[in-house]
Amino acid sequence: MHNAALRAIGLDDWRYQLLPVPPELFSETVRALPDAGFRGTNVTIPHKTAALELATAATGRAAAIGAANTLTFEPGGAITADNTDAPAIVAAVPFDLRGRAAVVLGAGGSARAAAWALAGAGARDVRIWNRTGERARALATRLGVGAIEPGAAVPAADVLVNCTAVGLHGEDPFEALPLSRSRIGEYGCVVDLVYTPDGTRLIGAAAVAGVATVDGLEILVGQGALSFERFTGRPAPVQAMRAAARA
Ligand code: NAP
Repeated sequence: MHNAALRAIGLDDWRYQLLPVPPELFSETVRALPDAGFRGTNVTIPHKTAALELATAATGRAAAIGAANTLTFEPGGAITADNTDAPAIVAAVPFDLRGRAAVVLGAGGSARAAAWALAGAGARDVRIWNRTGERARALATRLGVGAIEPGAAVPAADVLVNCTAVGLHGEDPFEALPLSRSRIGEYGCVVDLVYTPDGTRLIGAAAVAGVATVDGLEILVGQGALSFERFTGRPAPVQAMRAAARA
């Protein structure tokens, strides 16, 4: 996706490459990247908190969320942390979130970004459900939003965002999550951060019920486009990125 974007805007001598890094080598590896010619990096599980801690500066959203998915290397040695998952989630929802009700499933890194983003976009009622209820309560307290206890019913809402890993390996969301297939039509929009080659069962069921859907690839493209702009200082060619991601 990023290499397609680089080609699309003529940055032919730039490359985006995968660097698998174990946690114990994360800090020393990242610190060596600027001298190796890197302009920045995306980071993913399990490095998002470490990335924020390593940075010398952070955007307000990365600091508030407590996790970063993008580091940019500034001239002079500064490392800036950003979280582009949060704005990508809000931008992908096809209506204004002000005054809307939202349910976030999960309490990991992406749920933190989603709940913070939804509340920041003006959703009046944001509630977090998590399999491990204690984590949902802790996150809700930190963000000043609501928590749903594991055994309680999950209410209908304008937006449902799945930030759990359920669906990654084809799991049935109506078994693993507190959702009912017959009531999925009660949500105004279903966002699934999980992406799989054939689409997730949650997105499939929501689409069949006539609900607006945003799949994980769209979020991937959105967060990637914002990161791309930080790395290159150029507008992201979003269509080229979407086409590459979907291919
Ligand atoms: P994470 O920090 O590891 O959190 C995982 C979450 O999933 C936790 O809330 C965990 O609950 C829950 N979970 C895992 N297995 C479960 C199960 N069988 N039943 C119910 N809940 C379960 O991961 P993350 O970074 O938030 O990412 C979550 C998912 O979003 C991943 O699949 C990731 O690939 C995807 N993601 C996509 C994008 C994108 O651009 N599309 C961006 C970020 C993340 P417990 O607390 O109870 O363990």
